[in-house]
Amino acid sequence: MNAITDDDRTYDVVIVGAGFSGAILAKELVSAGHTVLILEAGADHGKTWETYRSYLDQYYLSLAKTPNSPYPDLPTLPSPSVLDITAVRGTEPDTNGYFVQRGPLPFGSNYLRAYGGTSLHWLGTSLRMMPADFEMQSRFGQGVDWPFGYKDIRSDYERAEWEIGVSADAEEQTPRALGIKTSGKHDNRGYFAKGYDFPMHSIPSSYIDGFFARADGMPIEIGEDPKDTVKLKVSRTPQGRNSTPRKPKNANGIPVGRKMRYQFRPRGSTGPFAYMGQRCEGNSSCIPICPIQAKYNAMKTLEDAKHIRKHHMKTITQAVASKVELAESGRVSGIVYKKYSFSGVAQYELRRAKGKQYVLAGGAVENVTLALASEICRTSGELGRNLMDHPYMMTWGSAPEPVGPFRGPGSTSSYANFRDGTFRDRTAAHRLEIGNWGWNFATGAPNTDVARFVEQENLFGKALRDKLYHDVQRQVRIGTMVEQLPRSTNRVTIDPAYRTPMGEYRPVISYDLDDYSRAGLATAYDTCTQIFQRLGIRNHTAYNPSDAGYFTYDGRGYTFFGAGHLVGTHRIGTHPRNSVTNDVMRTWDHDNLWMVGAGSMPTIATSNPTLTMSAMAYRASRAISDAVRKGGAK
Ligand SMILES: Cc1cc2nc3c(=O)[nH]c(=O)nc-3n(C[C@H](O)[C@H](O)[C@H](O)COP(=O)(O)OP(=O)(O)OC[C@H]3O[C@@H](n4cnc5c(N)ncnc54)[C@H](O)[C@@H]3O)c2cc1C
Ligand code: SF4
Repeated sequence: MNAITDDDRTYDVVIVGAGFSGAILAKELVSAGHTVLILEAGADHGKTWETYRSYLDQYYLSLAKTPNSPYPDLPTLPSPSVLDITAVRGTEPDTNGYFVQRGPLPFGSNYLRAYGGTSLHWLGTSLRMMPADFEMQSRFGQGVDWPFGYKDIRSDYERAEWEIGVSADAEEQTPRALGIKTSGKHDNRGYFAKGYDFPMHSIPSSYIDGFFARADGMPIEIGEDPKDTVKLKVSRTPQGRNSTPRKPKNANGIPVGRKMRYQFRPRGSTGPFAYMGQRCEGNSSCIPICPIQAKYNAMKTLEDAKHIRKHHMKTITQAVASKVELAESGRVSGIVYKKYSFSGVAQYELRRAKGKQYVLAGGAVENVTLALASEICRTSGELGRNLMDHPYMMTWGSAPEPVGPFRGPGSTSSYANFRDGTFRDRTAAHRLEIGNWGWNFATGAPNTDVARFVEQENLFGKALRDKLYHDVQRQVRIGTMVEQLPRSTNRVTIDPAYRTPMGEYRPVISYDLDDYSRAGLATAYDTCTQIFQRLGIRNHTAYNPSDAGYFTYDGRGYTFFGAGHLVGTHRIGTHPRNSVTNDVMRTWDHDNLWMVGAGSMPTIATSNPTLTMSAMAYRASRAISDAVRKGGAK
């Protein structure tokens, strides 16, 4: 056992993780005058322009363009990969990848351990939640209520949208404008604060969006109750990628929003070529990597934070937090971390970081793995439970005319109509995302098309080009993301039998889909087939019982994937018996320990979680700053 060396400085706040949450917390806390240490398990390769280019080179060379393919895959620090997901069969867990999967269904999501975290390969979809999403139990008798409501977090949403740099137009984004029949009478009122608008205009719609908009107005019954029937509408999706900054005043000289006292300055690439990436160029590789960094990543916020106050912030990369240590009082007294180098597999020094307040911001799964390994936060029995994701189902087909896929960001619009409604007492809400990249996610197109036409149809030269031109140009896909309820059996645990080469626990995951989510997916499939029929799209969707994510509902089979939206494992709540932390993310059990990230969310609903999670990081940062000032007393 290596001896532990204490770091020579005690910080106001020690943060574990340099992803979205860690970056926002660091920037806020440094701005408030506090000193901050970030421990980041991954490497900071992408920080300079040259090293970011090494990510790109790695991406161009990878045969499988998966979310993690551009980034270092270290034996010392494995990350979960979508390539490792197989069906869990029998009673033995699937130990193929980094996750140990106990099933019965595979948990299909991944994340990235690197400076910047999973923001390096997120898509950028930045949706607010609906007011009903905070009241699932009171409105529908499903899931749980949050300890606060939509209006309590609205101003933090604004801050998050301005930090990430979200491109959207507020007038298009109210529930009514999205064509949602909300479950509450007043849900539209005050959805945006008076005069508020996003920092940049919407990303333009793709040609494919326009094609799907031809089905606008088509009625879709979502249950037997006529009041649940909605009229389809394609609407643009708020996105964390740079478009055109909104002018502070409109043409009549009226201020456009109360945040608009200054014009938003888009941040492009970090490093010396900051002018790059100030507009999205439609390079079409947002997942896994935006070559020009027009898409937000957390390195931008981390770089800002570093320049706010000299010497207030330090980041130690290749530093895996391994144990949260407690004093007799139950307060955290230090975090032991393993500082490794690249030269030797599993060689590291043991060090101890010291602070007044400690924050775990390592993501919903890693936060829990560390907390379980440290035997902390045990009172509620909720730690690691209620793991949620957006089960993601694809429906794909051939349009009757060329629609120009493989251009622009992965998705620019969706049918958002099904994000709320009274049907949620029995069927999961969902969002139908319109894909811009043909059948890429569904079948591996266009590469697989080339292979198929050569091998099966023996086509070469012009005949091959013509066939590709004809078929690929018509590829369309809808991706359904369905909400999942918190279930205590969907959970992350640890087991001494499964460890990384550095001796850290690997996450052991149990996961299933309940009938609520299955019903939502089945309903969405029916909607997609109706849309396909209306638009003359030939359905090519194929779900195969050998697919890892194959499941059945009502006698029919479907396949789902993970969406990368890991939520719910250390949820906030009103009482130490029903939650791991309070409503500002301070752990009930340890006065100076906080757990921040999407793991804090009690329900997932239909919005991709990162904007909400970022808004919650602002909420936590104020409370952490108060705690530092008061010396940590409750
Ligand atoms: C392919 C993909 C696409 C996505 N697209 C979207 C999208 O369009 N919209 C959206 O809202 N969300 C999206 N997400 C989800 C989004 O990426 C996550 O919600 C978000 O990254 C979570 O932020 P975080 O800061 O909590 O964790 P992360 O971004 O994962 O960062 C956590 C950091 O903590 C570090 N860390 C963890 N444990 C330790 C430890 N023990 N010691 C030291 N460091 C540690 C990790 O190395 C990592 O760098 C996507 C996810 C994936 C996988
Ligand atoms: S479409 Fe291209 S330029 Fe735009 S965010 Fe995605 S990768 Fe970056």
